[in-house]
Amino acid sequence: MTFKLTQLPYDRDALEPHISARTLDFHYGKHHKTYVEKLNQAVAGTKYEDMALEQVVRESFRKNDKPVYNNGSQAWNHTFFWDSMDPASDGTPAGSLAEKLDDQFGSLDGFRKQFKDSAVSKFGSGWTWLVADGNTLAIVSTSDADSPLTTDTTPLLTLDVWEHAYYLDYQNSRDRFVGAFLEHLINWDFAQDNLDSFETRRRLNL
Ligand code: FE
Repeated sequence: MTFKLTQLPYDRDALEPHISARTLDFHYGKHHKTYVEKLNQAVAGTKYEDMALEQVVRESFRKNDKPVYNNGSQAWNHTFFWDSMDPASDGTPAGSLAEKLDDQFGSLDGFRKQFKDSAVSKFGSGWTWLVADGNTLAIVSTSDADSPLTTDTTPLLTLDVWEHAYYLDYQNSRDRFVGAFLEHLINWDFAQDNLDSFETRRRLNL
């Protein structure tokens, strides 16, 4: 196996009551696992076998290698999503990211409202992201497997808005799922770390 299913960074029941162990059994244990398995099938015997996963996503996007891109991007997106949540989250950012959110969206509530609007209005399957875009922050939603990795922006955190992410717990109420993520689950330390490394790379012109 070239690519491995990443470890979930917490127990499967750790996000309850907001995301159930049953949802994570399916979402991590079946959906994410299957993307990794299909990725390994698609890259067998190709140049992609020797690349890091982020490189696989960018290169297969550029070459329009669909099975590699779709499964590779979904494998990467899901790991990034698990890391975007923290069972011990108090829902509140600190440090330079808190200031930037205030500057960009007026307040934490302003950020939550804009993120929720984007996530709820995303038609069909996809992802909603907070990204660093030059000196500013932005909220973007992508379709299917797409992510900011193939753009000039840098992802700070993400929410999976495919139905498989919330249907068992919230049925068709995507808005309640998004609200729980925004108020109770975001790993703001992870987002801050991503912002810090983005700013370091920029300062050093890397
Ligand atoms: Fe998913």
